[in-house]
Amino acid sequence: MSDAVGIYISIPFCKAKCTFCNFASGAFGAERMPRYVDRLCEEMRAVRAGADRISASLGGSVDTVYFGGGTPSLLSATQFRQIFDALRGEFDVARDAEITLECAPGQLGDETLDELQRQGMNRISFGVQSFVDRESAAVGRLHTREQCEAEIARVRRAGVGEINLDLIAGLPHQTEESWKFSVDQAIASEVPHVSVYLLEVDEDSRLGREMLEQGTRYGAAAVPSEDDAAGWYEQACLTLDDAGVGQYEISNFARSGHRSRHNLKYWTRQPYLGFGVDAHSMLLTAEGAARFANTDDLETYLGVVVEGGPLRLFDSSQGVSSSSSFCSDVDHIGAEAAFEESLFLGLRLNEGVDLDRVRDQFGDAMLRAAMPALLEVQDAGLLELYSDRMRLTTRGRLVSNEVFSRLLIPSAA
Ligand code: SF4
Repeated sequence: MSDAVGIYISIPFCKAKCTFCNFASGAFGAERMPRYVDRLCEEMRAVRAGADRISASLGGSVDTVYFGGGTPSLLSATQFRQIFDALRGEFDVARDAEITLECAPGQLGDETLDELQRQGMNRISFGVQSFVDRESAAVGRLHTREQCEAEIARVRRAGVGEINLDLIAGLPHQTEESWKFSVDQAIASEVPHVSVYLLEVDEDSRLGREMLEQGTRYGAAAVPSEDDAAGWYEQACLTLDDAGVGQYEISNFARSGHRSRHNLKYWTRQPYLGFGVDAHSMLLTAEGAARFANTDDLETYLGVVVEGGPLRLFDSSQGVSSSSSFCSDVDHIGAEAAFEESLFLGLRLNEGVDLDRVRDQFGDAMLRAAMPALLEVQDAGLLELYSDRMRLTTRGRLVSNEVFSRLLIPSAA
């Protein structure tokens, strides 16, 4: 395994809040952006000392950088320059690093795009969600199909060919035909990567609350049934596969050679470091690994500065940090939890889990202890189990959370 680390940078600013979303993002005032960027840079400068305190390794170099959110493309060219200066000041960013920008169609200015390309950004992920304007508008997206197509053409002309399109099955007003149209449009665009998600409506989002209260403002009554959306997802898997955009993870599809190197780190338990609001990290330690996450509250994240105190990434004296610092508890991942993670994360991938590698890493006893649950899930038609490998079936991928909860090792459950 490479000791290179991936870096995730969270930018929680959006132009408008989508009705289904309850991420740690919002239409926060642009006046907060400069302070936020300052905090990101200070967090980067503090990270080495913080990692030392929990004896975690920051790896040799950085081979992937991912700007997610939120809508990172809303930052200015100058703000991105500031972030890259801090990043390169602290880390050795590999020349061939994959650098991805999440972007809402129509919300990436020319100047910002130019600067990002100067800094090595080479991959863009567009939050299209639907190529049907009525469906996009219903959930508060601000773009049209025409704009999406124009944006794809524009970034290609600028030299960015590694493009991902996000699609969501189950949006209000979506039908089997309209979903097929969106998938066909994604294929026709010839982008090398597509992500397909089932609509997940957070109960605390506007749409979620309306669905509970049976209101009418955000199209709750027009949300398709879960069974319909699941069927459309399965259809999309087949259609994309036929078009050469093969599924490699529950939600991710790529033409050959175009998988997301950054996201693969999450599923193969390679180290990554997150900066910004609600950013998560996993670093290797002598005992295994440590996981930790930043606060999901923007004011708290910015508040560290308002209080004027030195940034504390980790509070080693208590093992946890106080509410005014960036980082919550540090979870030290022991062998049993690491074993479970290897199974759950590996099963997200179509290639599944290499059982010989798991045996080498964790010994045979843990695998034997997990075998009754694995056989049970196999009998339910959700898992294919071979002597050297296991993987989810198509049905298993659709109900992956149920599979994972059935596989929890009893002593750790
Ligand atoms: S779905 Fe994305 S663009 Fe929409 S509010 Fe949430 S983070 Fe922002």
